[in-house]
Amino acid sequence: MTSPTAPVPLKTIVIVGGGTAGWIAAAMLARFVPRTTKISLVESDAIGTVGVGEATIPQIRLLTAALGIDENAMLAATHGTFKLGIEFVDWTGRGSRYMHAFGAVGRGLGVVPFHHHWLRAQASGTAAPLGDYIASARAAADARFDRHPDLAYAYHFDATLLARWLRGLAEASGVDRIEGRIVTAQRDGETGDLTGVTLDDGRAVEGDFFLDCSGFRSLLLGEALGVAFEDWSHWLPCDRAMAVACEVTTPLLPYTRATARPVGWQWRIPLQHRTGNGLVYAAAHLSDDEAAARLLANLDGPAIGDPRPLRFATGKRATFWERNVVALGLASGFMEPLESTSIHMVQSAVARLLSLFPSAGDNAAARAAYNRQTHIEYDTVRDFLILHYHANRRPEPFWQRCRDMALPDRLAEKIAQFRAAAILTPDVADLFTEPAWLQVMIGQGINPVTWSPLAEALSPDQLAGFLADIRDRHAATARALPAHADTVARHCMAKR
Ligand SMILES: Cc1cc2nc3c(=O)[nH]c(=O)nc-3n(C[C@H](O)[C@H](O)[C@H](O)COP(=O)(O)OP(=O)(O)OC[C@H]3O[C@@H](n4cnc5c(N)ncnc54)[C@H](O)[C@@H]3O)c2cc1C
Repeated sequence: MTSPTAPVPLKTIVIVGGGTAGWIAAAMLARFVPRTTKISLVESDAIGTVGVGEATIPQIRLLTAALGIDENAMLAATHGTFKLGIEFVDWTGRGSRYMHAFGAVGRGLGVVPFHHHWLRAQASGTAAPLGDYIASARAAADARFDRHPDLAYAYHFDATLLARWLRGLAEASGVDRIEGRIVTAQRDGETGDLTGVTLDDGRAVEGDFFLDCSGFRSLLLGEALGVAFEDWSHWLPCDRAMAVACEVTTPLLPYTRATARPVGWQWRIPLQHRTGNGLVYAAAHLSDDEAAARLLANLDGPAIGDPRPLRFATGKRATFWERNVVALGLASGFMEPLESTSIHMVQSAVARLLSLFPSAGDNAAARAAYNRQTHIEYDTVRDFLILHYHANRRPEPFWQRCRDMALPDRLAEKIAQFRAAAILTPDVADLFTEPAWLQVMIGQGINPVTWSPLAEALSPDQLAGFLADIRDRHAATARALPAHADTVARHCMAKR
Protein backbone atom coordinates (compact mmCIF):
# COMPACT_ATOMS: atom_id res chain seq x y z
CA MET A 1 0.00 0.00 0.00
CA THR A 2 1.33 3.46 -0.88
CA SER A 3 1.25 5.85 2.04
CA PRO A 4 -0.77 9.05 1.72
CA THR A 5 1.14 12.27 1.14
CA ALA A 6 0.54 15.69 2.65
CA PRO A 7 -1.89 17.88 0.65
CA VAL A 8 -0.55 20.99 -1.04
CA PRO A 9 -2.45 23.90 0.52
CA LEU A 10 -4.09 26.65 -1.49
CA LYS A 11 -2.03 29.85 -1.54
CA THR A 12 -4.82 32.37 -1.96
CA ILE A 13 -8.60 32.26 -1.59
CA VAL A 14 -10.52 35.22 -2.96
CA ILE A 15 -14.04 35.86 -1.68
CA VAL A 16 -16.09 38.00 -4.06
CA GLY A 17 -18.81 39.93 -2.22
CA GLY A 18 -19.25 41.25 1.30
CA GLY A 19 -22.89 40.63 2.15
CA THR A 20 -23.94 38.20 4.86
CA ALA A 21 -22.64 35.28 2.75
CA GLY A 22 -19.23 36.81 2.06
CA TRP A 23 -18.55 37.82 5.64
CA ILE A 24 -19.82 34.55 7.16
CA ALA A 25 -17.47 32.71 4.81
CA ALA A 26 -14.59 35.07 5.58
CA ALA A 27 -15.03 34.78 9.35
CA MET A 28 -15.28 30.98 9.24
CA LEU A 29 -12.35 30.50 6.88
CA ALA A 30 -10.21 32.86 8.92
CA ARG A 31 -10.94 30.71 11.97
CA PHE A 32 -10.38 27.27 10.49
CA VAL A 33 -8.02 27.56 7.51
CA PRO A 34 -4.29 27.57 8.37
CA ARG A 35 -2.63 30.99 8.03
CA THR A 36 -0.47 29.70 5.18
CA THR A 37 -3.49 30.37 2.95
CA LYS A 38 -4.15 34.06 2.35
CA ILE A 39 -7.80 35.12 2.38
CA SER A 40 -8.98 38.27 0.61
CA LEU A 41 -12.48 39.65 0.20
CA VAL A 42 -13.46 42.04 -2.58
CA GLU A 43 -16.61 44.12 -2.21
CA SER A 44 -18.04 47.30 -3.58
CA ASP A 45 -19.65 49.87 -1.31
CA ALA A 46 -21.14 51.44 -4.45
CA ILE A 47 -23.07 48.23 -5.22
CA GLY A 48 -24.03 47.47 -1.62
CA THR A 49 -25.74 44.37 -0.24
CA VAL A 50 -29.27 43.05 -0.47
CA GLY A 51 -29.75 44.43 3.08
CA VAL A 52 -32.51 42.04 4.16
CA GLY A 53 -32.29 38.65 5.86
CA GLU A 54 -33.15 39.30 9.45
CA ALA A 55 -34.73 36.09 10.73
CA THR A 56 -32.90 32.84 11.40
CA ILE A 57 -33.41 29.26 12.60
CA PRO A 58 -31.83 27.64 15.68
CA GLN A 59 -28.87 26.25 13.71
CA ILE A 60 -27.52 29.82 13.64
CA ARG A 61 -26.30 29.12 17.15
CA LEU A 62 -23.87 26.57 15.72
CA LEU A 63 -22.34 29.44 13.78
CA THR A 64 -21.99 31.68 16.80
CA ALA A 65 -20.47 28.74 18.70
CA ALA A 66 -18.07 27.89 15.87
CA LEU A 67 -16.92 31.50 15.68
CA GLY A 68 -16.60 31.79 19.45
CA ILE A 69 -19.02 34.71 19.40
CA ASP A 70 -20.53 36.04 22.60
CA GLU A 71 -24.26 35.84 21.87
CA ASN A 72 -25.20 38.86 23.98
CA ALA A 73 -22.53 41.06 22.41
CA MET A 74 -23.61 40.02 18.91
CA LEU A 75 -27.28 40.72 19.62
CA ALA A 76 -26.45 44.09 21.15
CA ALA A 77 -24.33 45.01 18.12
CA THR A 78 -27.06 43.99 15.67
CA HIS A 79 -30.08 45.27 17.68
CA GLY A 80 -31.16 41.66 17.82
CA THR A 81 -33.97 39.82 19.58
CA PHE A 82 -34.75 36.16 20.25
CA LYS A 83 -36.93 34.01 18.00
CA LEU A 84 -38.92 30.97 19.15
CA GLY A 85 -40.62 30.25 15.83
CA ILE A 86 -42.89 31.65 13.15
CA GLU A 87 -46.56 32.41 13.60
CA PHE A 88 -48.58 31.76 10.43
CA VAL A 89 -51.71 33.87 10.21
CA ASP A 90 -54.62 33.59 7.73
CA TRP A 91 -53.12 30.76 5.64
CA THR A 92 -56.20 28.57 5.95
CA GLY A 93 -58.70 31.40 5.88
CA ARG A 94 -59.24 34.66 7.72
CA GLY A 95 -58.59 34.45 11.45
CA SER A 96 -56.66 31.16 11.28
CA ARG A 97 -53.32 31.04 13.06
CA TYR A 98 -50.75 28.50 14.14
CA MET A 99 -47.16 28.50 15.27
CA HIS A 100 -44.27 26.64 13.73
CA ALA A 101 -42.22 26.69 16.91
CA PHE A 102 -38.67 25.43 17.30
CA GLY A 103 -37.91 22.32 19.33
CA ALA A 104 -39.74 19.14 20.26
CA VAL A 105 -43.49 18.59 20.03
CA GLY A 106 -44.70 16.81 23.17
CA ARG A 107 -42.68 13.71 23.91
CA GLY A 108 -42.77 10.22 22.49
CA LEU A 109 -44.16 7.35 24.51
CA GLY A 110 -42.49 4.03 23.85
CA VAL A 111 -42.12 3.62 20.12
CA VAL A 112 -45.07 5.85 19.26
CA PRO A 113 -44.38 9.46 18.27
CA PHE A 114 -46.30 12.04 20.28
CA HIS A 115 -48.59 13.23 17.51
CA HIS A 116 -50.40 9.86 17.27
CA HIS A 117 -51.53 10.23 20.89
CA TRP A 118 -52.50 13.82 20.26
CA LEU A 119 -54.56 12.88 17.20
CA ARG A 120 -56.36 10.21 19.18
CA ALA A 121 -57.22 12.69 21.95
CA GLN A 122 -58.23 15.27 19.39
CA ALA A 123 -60.68 12.85 17.80
CA SER A 124 -62.39 12.44 21.17
CA GLY A 125 -62.39 16.19 21.78
CA THR A 126 -59.98 16.08 24.73
CA ALA A 127 -56.82 17.51 23.17
CA ALA A 128 -55.69 21.12 23.49
CA PRO A 129 -54.20 22.88 20.42
CA LEU A 130 -50.87 21.36 19.32
CA GLY A 131 -48.96 24.48 20.44
CA ASP A 132 -49.87 23.78 24.08
CA TYR A 133 -47.57 20.75 23.91
CA ILE A 134 -44.57 22.69 22.56
CA ALA A 135 -42.51 24.61 25.11
CA SER A 136 -41.37 27.29 22.62
CA ALA A 137 -44.88 27.84 21.33
CA ARG A 138 -46.26 28.31 24.85
CA ALA A 139 -43.59 30.82 25.79
CA ALA A 140 -44.00 32.63 22.45
CA ALA A 141 -47.76 32.94 22.93
CA ASP A 142 -47.12 34.87 26.16
CA ALA A 143 -44.27 36.97 24.65
CA ARG A 144 -41.94 35.49 27.25
CA PHE A 145 -38.36 34.38 26.79
CA ASP A 146 -35.24 33.41 28.63
CA ARG A 147 -32.54 30.89 27.88
CA HIS A 148 -34.07 27.67 29.20
CA PRO A 149 -33.23 24.01 28.49
CA ASP A 150 -36.76 23.38 27.13
CA LEU A 151 -36.64 26.25 24.63
CA ALA A 152 -35.03 26.03 21.20
CA TYR A 153 -34.39 29.51 19.85
CA ALA A 154 -32.83 31.54 17.07
CA TYR A 155 -32.29 35.27 16.49
CA HIS A 156 -33.71 38.22 14.65
CA PHE A 157 -31.11 40.86 13.76
CA ASP A 158 -30.38 43.82 11.54
CA ALA A 159 -28.79 42.29 8.41
CA THR A 160 -26.56 45.27 7.66
CA LEU A 161 -25.27 45.44 11.22
CA LEU A 162 -24.63 41.68 11.20
CA ALA A 163 -22.46 41.92 8.07
CA ARG A 164 -20.54 44.77 9.75
CA TRP A 165 -20.07 42.73 12.92
CA LEU A 166 -18.84 39.69 10.99
CA ARG A 167 -16.53 41.91 8.97
CA GLY A 168 -14.93 43.14 12.20
CA LEU A 169 -14.35 39.54 13.28
CA ALA A 170 -12.93 38.46 9.94
CA GLU A 171 -10.63 41.46 9.56
CA ALA A 172 -9.35 41.00 13.10
CA SER A 173 -8.48 37.42 12.11
CA GLY A 174 -6.41 38.53 9.13
CA VAL A 175 -8.85 38.69 6.18
CA ASP A 176 -7.74 41.36 3.73
CA ARG A 177 -10.68 43.50 2.50
CA ILE A 178 -10.35 45.05 -0.96
CA GLU A 179 -12.75 47.82 -1.91
CA GLY A 180 -13.64 48.02 -5.60
CA ARG A 181 -16.04 47.03 -8.35
CA ILE A 182 -15.18 43.91 -10.31
CA VAL A 183 -15.57 44.42 -14.04
CA THR A 184 -14.10 41.23 -15.52
CA ALA A 185 -12.93 37.78 -14.50
CA GLN A 186 -10.02 35.94 -16.10
CA ARG A 187 -9.79 32.24 -16.85
CA ASP A 188 -6.86 29.98 -17.63
CA GLY A 189 -6.79 29.29 -21.37
CA GLU A 190 -6.00 25.60 -20.88
CA THR A 191 -7.80 24.44 -17.72
CA GLY A 192 -10.70 26.90 -17.79
CA ASP A 193 -10.13 27.60 -14.09
CA LEU A 194 -10.64 31.12 -12.83
CA THR A 195 -7.34 32.94 -12.27
CA GLY A 196 -8.40 36.39 -11.10
CA VAL A 197 -10.71 39.37 -11.28
CA THR A 198 -10.07 42.91 -12.47
CA LEU A 199 -11.47 45.97 -10.70
CA ASP A 200 -12.80 49.11 -12.39
CA ASP A 201 -9.62 51.04 -11.55
CA GLY A 202 -7.52 48.39 -13.33
CA ARG A 203 -6.25 46.55 -10.23
CA ALA A 204 -6.02 42.78 -10.60
CA VAL A 205 -6.83 40.40 -7.76
CA GLU A 206 -5.48 36.91 -8.37
CA GLY A 207 -6.27 33.70 -6.53
CA ASP A 208 -6.18 29.95 -6.86
CA PHE A 209 -9.64 29.37 -5.33
CA PHE A 210 -12.71 31.62 -5.36
CA LEU A 211 -15.90 31.94 -3.33
CA ASP A 212 -18.62 33.66 -5.29
CA CYS A 213 -20.69 35.62 -2.76
CA SER A 214 -21.68 38.32 -5.26
CA GLY A 215 -25.44 38.06 -4.68
CA PHE A 216 -28.14 37.46 -7.28
CA ARG A 217 -25.79 38.39 -10.13
CA SER A 218 -23.60 35.32 -9.51
CA LEU A 219 -20.64 37.08 -11.04
CA LEU A 220 -18.22 34.14 -11.09
CA LEU A 221 -20.32 30.94 -11.12
CA GLY A 222 -23.16 32.24 -13.29
CA GLU A 223 -21.54 34.92 -15.47
CA ALA A 224 -17.87 33.89 -15.77
CA LEU A 225 -18.34 30.09 -15.74
CA GLY A 226 -21.79 30.05 -17.34
CA VAL A 227 -23.40 27.64 -14.85
CA ALA A 228 -27.13 27.52 -15.61
CA PHE A 229 -29.91 28.55 -13.23
CA GLU A 230 -32.79 26.13 -12.64
CA ASP A 231 -35.98 28.14 -12.22
CA TRP A 232 -38.51 27.01 -9.60
CA SER A 233 -41.10 29.73 -10.05
CA HIS A 234 -43.72 27.13 -11.11
CA TRP A 235 -43.55 25.85 -7.52
CA LEU A 236 -42.73 28.99 -5.58
CA PRO A 237 -44.51 31.73 -7.54
CA CYS A 238 -43.37 34.87 -5.69
CA ASP A 239 -40.63 36.88 -7.36
CA ARG A 240 -40.80 40.27 -5.62
CA ALA A 241 -40.65 41.72 -2.15
CA MET A 242 -41.46 45.21 -0.88
CA ALA A 243 -39.72 45.93 2.43
CA VAL A 244 -40.20 48.74 4.96
CA ALA A 245 -39.44 49.16 8.63
CA CYS A 246 -41.87 50.61 11.14
CA GLU A 247 -41.66 51.83 14.69
CA VAL A 248 -41.66 49.19 17.41
CA THR A 249 -44.83 48.23 19.20
CA THR A 250 -45.27 46.36 22.46
CA PRO A 251 -45.04 43.67 23.58
CA LEU A 252 -41.73 42.73 21.96
CA LEU A 253 -42.67 39.42 20.37
CA PRO A 254 -40.14 36.57 20.43
CA TYR A 255 -41.19 35.27 17.01
CA THR A 256 -41.55 36.16 13.34
CA ARG A 257 -45.06 36.54 11.94
CA ALA A 258 -45.96 35.47 8.38
CA THR A 259 -49.42 36.64 7.38
CA ALA A 260 -50.96 35.34 4.15
CA ARG A 261 -52.30 38.11 1.90
CA PRO A 262 -54.48 37.94 -1.24
CA VAL A 263 -51.23 37.69 -3.24
CA GLY A 264 -48.30 36.25 -1.28
CA TRP A 265 -47.60 36.96 2.36
CA GLN A 266 -46.20 39.59 4.71
CA TRP A 267 -43.37 39.20 7.20
CA ARG A 268 -43.05 40.95 10.53
CA ILE A 269 -39.70 40.74 12.29
CA PRO A 270 -39.31 42.46 15.67
CA LEU A 271 -35.93 44.07 16.37
CA GLN A 272 -34.95 46.28 19.28
CA HIS A 273 -35.06 49.60 17.40
CA ARG A 274 -37.57 48.86 14.63
CA THR A 275 -39.89 46.22 13.25
CA GLY A 276 -38.96 44.87 9.83
CA ASN A 277 -41.85 44.28 7.43
CA GLY A 278 -42.08 43.02 3.90
CA LEU A 279 -44.66 41.84 1.42
CA VAL A 280 -43.54 38.87 -0.69
CA TYR A 281 -45.63 38.72 -3.87
CA ALA A 282 -45.80 37.67 -7.50
CA ALA A 283 -45.41 40.36 -10.17
CA ALA A 284 -47.82 38.45 -12.41
CA HIS A 285 -50.60 39.09 -9.85
CA LEU A 286 -49.70 42.43 -8.23
CA SER A 287 -47.99 45.65 -9.37
CA ASP A 288 -45.16 47.16 -7.32
CA ASP A 289 -47.24 50.28 -6.57
CA GLU A 290 -50.14 48.19 -5.30
CA ALA A 291 -47.74 46.06 -3.24
CA ALA A 292 -46.27 49.17 -1.59
CA ALA A 293 -49.75 50.52 -0.83
CA ARG A 294 -50.89 47.22 0.67
CA LEU A 295 -47.76 46.92 2.77
CA LEU A 296 -48.08 50.45 4.16
CA ALA A 297 -51.74 49.85 4.95
CA ASN A 298 -50.86 46.78 7.03
CA LEU A 299 -48.15 47.96 9.44
CA ASP A 300 -48.63 47.99 13.18
CA GLY A 301 -46.64 51.20 13.69
CA PRO A 302 -45.72 54.32 11.67
CA ALA A 303 -43.44 53.50 8.70
CA ILE A 304 -39.78 54.49 8.87
CA GLY A 305 -38.76 55.58 5.36
CA ASP A 306 -40.19 54.47 2.02
CA PRO A 307 -40.86 50.88 0.91
CA ARG A 308 -37.92 49.33 -0.92
CA PRO A 309 -38.56 46.94 -3.83
CA LEU A 310 -36.53 43.74 -4.25
CA ARG A 311 -36.66 41.39 -7.22
CA PHE A 312 -35.62 37.79 -7.06
CA ALA A 313 -35.78 34.52 -8.94
CA THR A 314 -36.44 31.30 -7.05
CA GLY A 315 -34.27 28.36 -7.97
CA LYS A 316 -30.76 26.98 -7.79
CA ARG A 317 -27.65 26.71 -9.93
CA ALA A 318 -27.02 23.45 -11.83
CA THR A 319 -23.82 23.06 -9.80
CA PHE A 320 -22.58 25.01 -6.80
CA TRP A 321 -18.90 24.12 -7.02
CA GLU A 322 -17.61 24.37 -10.57
CA ARG A 323 -13.89 24.20 -11.38
CA ASN A 324 -12.21 26.32 -8.68
CA VAL A 325 -15.29 28.37 -7.78
CA VAL A 326 -17.86 27.70 -5.03
CA ALA A 327 -20.93 29.95 -4.94
CA LEU A 328 -22.51 30.77 -1.58
CA GLY A 329 -25.65 32.67 -0.64
CA LEU A 330 -27.71 34.35 -3.32
CA ALA A 331 -25.05 33.61 -5.96
CA SER A 332 -25.84 29.90 -5.56
CA GLY A 333 -29.63 30.15 -5.64
CA PHE A 334 -32.51 31.51 -3.62
CA MET A 335 -35.68 30.41 -1.93
CA GLU A 336 -37.97 32.99 -0.50
CA PRO A 337 -37.76 33.82 3.21
CA LEU A 338 -40.94 32.02 4.37
CA GLU A 339 -38.97 29.75 6.73
CA SER A 340 -35.90 32.01 7.13
CA THR A 341 -33.57 29.47 5.55
CA SER A 342 -31.09 31.46 3.43
CA ILE A 343 -28.57 32.45 6.07
CA HIS A 344 -28.64 28.90 7.38
CA MET A 345 -27.89 27.61 3.90
CA VAL A 346 -24.86 29.91 3.73
CA GLN A 347 -23.57 28.62 7.03
CA SER A 348 -24.22 24.97 6.18
CA ALA A 349 -22.53 25.43 2.78
CA VAL A 350 -19.47 26.89 4.52
CA ALA A 351 -19.45 23.98 6.99
CA ARG A 352 -19.70 21.53 4.07
CA LEU A 353 -16.88 23.28 2.26
CA LEU A 354 -14.70 23.10 5.35
CA SER A 355 -15.41 19.38 5.65
CA LEU A 356 -14.48 18.84 1.97
CA PHE A 357 -11.83 21.52 1.86
CA PRO A 358 -9.99 21.89 -1.46
CA SER A 359 -6.23 21.68 -1.86
CA ALA A 360 -4.07 22.89 -4.71
CA GLY A 361 -4.38 19.38 -6.19
CA ASP A 362 -7.28 17.51 -7.79
CA ASN A 363 -10.56 18.27 -5.99
CA ALA A 364 -12.93 16.27 -8.21
CA ALA A 365 -14.08 13.93 -5.41
CA ALA A 366 -14.74 16.75 -2.96
CA ARG A 367 -16.52 18.75 -5.65
CA ALA A 368 -18.85 15.86 -6.52
CA ALA A 369 -19.71 15.25 -2.85
CA TYR A 370 -20.26 18.95 -2.22
CA ASN A 371 -22.59 19.35 -5.20
CA ARG A 372 -24.60 16.24 -4.38
CA GLN A 373 -25.15 17.27 -0.74
CA THR A 374 -26.03 20.84 -1.66
CA HIS A 375 -28.62 19.71 -4.21
CA ILE A 376 -30.29 17.53 -1.56
CA GLU A 377 -30.38 20.43 0.87
CA TYR A 378 -31.92 22.76 -1.70
CA ASP A 379 -34.52 20.25 -2.83
CA THR A 380 -35.67 19.28 0.66
CA VAL A 381 -36.01 22.91 1.81
CA ARG A 382 -37.90 23.71 -1.40
CA ASP A 383 -40.45 20.98 -0.70
CA PHE A 384 -41.08 22.25 2.81
CA LEU A 385 -41.75 25.75 1.46
CA ILE A 386 -44.05 24.46 -1.28
CA LEU A 387 -46.13 22.70 1.40
CA HIS A 388 -47.14 26.09 2.85
CA TYR A 389 -48.23 27.40 -0.53
CA HIS A 390 -50.00 24.29 -1.70
CA ALA A 391 -51.95 23.40 1.44
CA ASN A 392 -53.73 26.73 1.78
CA ARG A 393 -57.48 27.34 2.04
CA ARG A 394 -57.73 30.85 0.72
CA PRO A 395 -60.23 31.88 -1.95
CA GLU A 396 -58.12 34.20 -4.15
CA PRO A 397 -56.99 33.12 -7.69
CA PHE A 398 -53.31 33.28 -6.64
CA TRP A 399 -53.93 30.77 -3.87
CA GLN A 400 -56.23 28.59 -5.95
CA ARG A 401 -53.41 28.18 -8.46
CA CYS A 402 -51.06 27.18 -5.65
CA ARG A 403 -53.52 24.49 -4.54
CA ASP A 404 -53.77 23.20 -8.11
CA MET A 405 -50.05 23.01 -8.84
CA ALA A 406 -48.35 19.69 -9.61
CA LEU A 407 -46.13 18.85 -6.65
CA PRO A 408 -42.62 17.37 -6.62
CA ASP A 409 -43.00 13.59 -6.15
CA ARG A 410 -41.31 13.51 -2.74
CA LEU A 411 -43.65 16.15 -1.34
CA ALA A 412 -46.75 14.53 -2.82
CA GLU A 413 -45.72 11.26 -1.16
CA LYS A 414 -45.06 12.92 2.21
CA ILE A 415 -48.50 14.56 2.19
CA ALA A 416 -50.22 11.32 1.14
CA GLN A 417 -48.49 9.34 3.90
CA PHE A 418 -49.41 11.88 6.54
CA ARG A 419 -52.99 12.07 5.38
CA ALA A 420 -53.39 8.29 5.26
CA ALA A 421 -52.04 7.36 8.69
CA ALA A 422 -50.17 10.34 10.25
CA ILE A 423 -46.89 8.92 8.96
CA LEU A 424 -43.92 11.29 9.06
CA THR A 425 -40.72 9.71 7.82
CA PRO A 426 -37.52 11.72 8.16
CA ASP A 427 -35.51 12.23 4.97
CA VAL A 428 -31.77 12.03 5.22
CA ALA A 429 -30.28 15.53 5.13
CA ASP A 430 -33.66 17.29 5.37
CA LEU A 431 -33.09 20.48 7.33
CA PHE A 432 -36.66 20.24 8.61
CA THR A 433 -37.39 17.26 10.83
CA GLU A 434 -40.67 15.71 12.01
CA PRO A 435 -41.69 18.47 14.48
CA ALA A 436 -41.52 21.07 11.70
CA TRP A 437 -43.41 18.98 9.15
CA LEU A 438 -46.02 18.06 11.77
CA GLN A 439 -46.74 21.62 12.82
CA VAL A 440 -47.03 22.91 9.26
CA MET A 441 -49.10 19.94 8.00
CA ILE A 442 -51.58 20.30 10.86
CA GLY A 443 -51.45 24.09 10.75
CA GLN A 444 -52.18 24.16 7.02
CA GLY A 445 -55.15 21.86 7.48
CA ILE A 446 -53.81 18.48 6.36
CA ASN A 447 -55.71 16.15 8.67
CA PRO A 448 -54.77 12.46 8.93
CA VAL A 449 -57.53 9.92 8.42
CA THR A 450 -56.25 7.80 11.31
CA TRP A 451 -53.29 7.27 13.65
CA SER A 452 -51.01 4.43 14.73
CA PRO A 453 -52.85 1.42 16.19
CA LEU A 454 -50.14 1.30 18.86
CA ALA A 455 -51.46 4.56 20.33
CA GLU A 456 -54.56 2.61 21.39
CA ALA A 457 -52.50 0.86 24.09
CA LEU A 458 -53.19 3.67 26.58
CA SER A 459 -56.49 3.76 28.43
CA PRO A 460 -58.47 7.01 27.97
CA ASP A 461 -57.44 8.07 31.49
CA GLN A 462 -53.78 7.31 30.85
CA LEU A 463 -53.95 9.29 27.61
CA ALA A 464 -55.53 12.28 29.34
CA GLY A 465 -52.93 12.15 32.13
CA PHE A 466 -50.04 11.89 29.68
CA LEU A 467 -51.19 14.92 27.67
CA ALA A 468 -52.08 16.99 30.74
CA ASP A 469 -48.66 16.36 32.22
CA ILE A 470 -46.87 17.78 29.18
CA ARG A 471 -49.26 20.68 28.85
CA ASP A 472 -49.04 21.65 32.51
CA ARG A 473 -45.27 21.47 32.48
CA HIS A 474 -44.98 23.81 29.49
CA ALA A 475 -47.55 26.20 30.92
CA ALA A 476 -45.63 26.34 34.21
CA THR A 477 -42.33 26.89 32.36
CA ALA A 478 -43.85 29.75 30.35
CA ARG A 479 -45.38 31.38 33.46
CA ALA A 480 -42.00 31.40 35.20
CA LEU A 481 -40.19 33.13 32.31
CA PRO A 482 -39.60 36.89 32.16
CA ALA A 483 -41.06 38.98 29.35
CA HIS A 484 -38.95 38.79 26.19
CA ALA A 485 -38.40 42.57 26.35
CA ASP A 486 -36.99 42.23 29.89
CA THR A 487 -34.55 39.51 28.85
CA VAL A 488 -33.33 41.66 25.96
CA ALA A 489 -33.02 44.70 28.24
CA ARG A 490 -31.09 42.74 30.83
CA HIS A 491 -28.65 40.88 28.57
CA CYS A 492 -28.23 42.37 25.13
CA MET A 493 -29.62 45.89 24.83
CA ALA A 494 -28.03 47.88 22.01
CA LYS A 495 -26.11 51.01 23.00
CA ARG A 496 -27.86 54.07 21.58
C1 LIG B 1 -36.86 39.71 0.35
C2 LIG B 1 -35.81 38.90 1.02
C3 LIG B 1 -35.96 38.57 2.37
C4 LIG B 1 -35.02 37.76 3.00
N1 LIG B 1 -35.20 37.38 4.31
C5 LIG B 1 -34.34 36.48 4.87
C6 LIG B 1 -34.53 36.03 6.20
O1 LIG B 1 -35.44 36.44 6.91
N2 LIG B 1 -33.66 35.12 6.68
C7 LIG B 1 -32.62 34.64 5.94
O2 LIG B 1 -31.88 33.77 6.42
N3 LIG B 1 -32.40 35.11 4.71
C8 LIG B 1 -33.23 36.00 4.15
N4 LIG B 1 -32.99 36.47 2.89
C9 LIG B 1 -31.78 36.05 2.20
C10 LIG B 1 -30.59 36.83 2.72
O3 LIG B 1 -30.83 38.20 2.60
C11 LIG B 1 -29.35 36.46 1.92
O4 LIG B 1 -29.26 35.07 1.84
C12 LIG B 1 -28.14 36.95 2.62
O5 LIG B 1 -28.24 38.31 2.87
C13 LIG B 1 -26.91 36.68 1.79
O6 LIG B 1 -26.84 37.57 0.71
P1 LIG B 1 -25.52 37.56 -0.12
O7 LIG B 1 -24.39 37.91 0.77
O8 LIG B 1 -25.45 36.28 -0.87
O9 LIG B 1 -25.74 38.71 -1.23
P2 LIG B 1 -25.69 40.31 -1.11
O10 LIG B 1 -26.15 40.82 0.19
O11 LIG B 1 -26.39 40.80 -2.34
O12 LIG B 1 -24.15 40.68 -1.23
C14 LIG B 1 -23.49 40.67 -2.47
C15 LIG B 1 -22.13 41.31 -2.31
O13 LIG B 1 -21.44 41.21 -3.55
C16 LIG B 1 -20.86 42.47 -3.85
N5 LIG B 1 -20.76 42.60 -5.30
C17 LIG B 1 -21.71 42.31 -6.23
N6 LIG B 1 -21.24 42.61 -7.47
C18 LIG B 1 -19.99 43.08 -7.29
C19 LIG B 1 -18.98 43.56 -8.18
N7 LIG B 1 -19.19 43.66 -9.49
N8 LIG B 1 -17.81 43.98 -7.65
C20 LIG B 1 -17.58 43.91 -6.30
N9 LIG B 1 -18.49 43.47 -5.42
C21 LIG B 1 -19.66 43.07 -5.92
C22 LIG B 1 -21.79 43.48 -3.22
O14 LIG B 1 -21.14 44.70 -3.00
C23 LIG B 1 -22.14 42.78 -1.92
O15 LIG B 1 -21.12 43.04 -0.97
C24 LIG B 1 -33.89 37.30 2.27
C25 LIG B 1 -33.72 37.69 0.94
C26 LIG B 1 -34.67 38.47 0.32
C27 LIG B 1 -34.47 38.86 -1.12
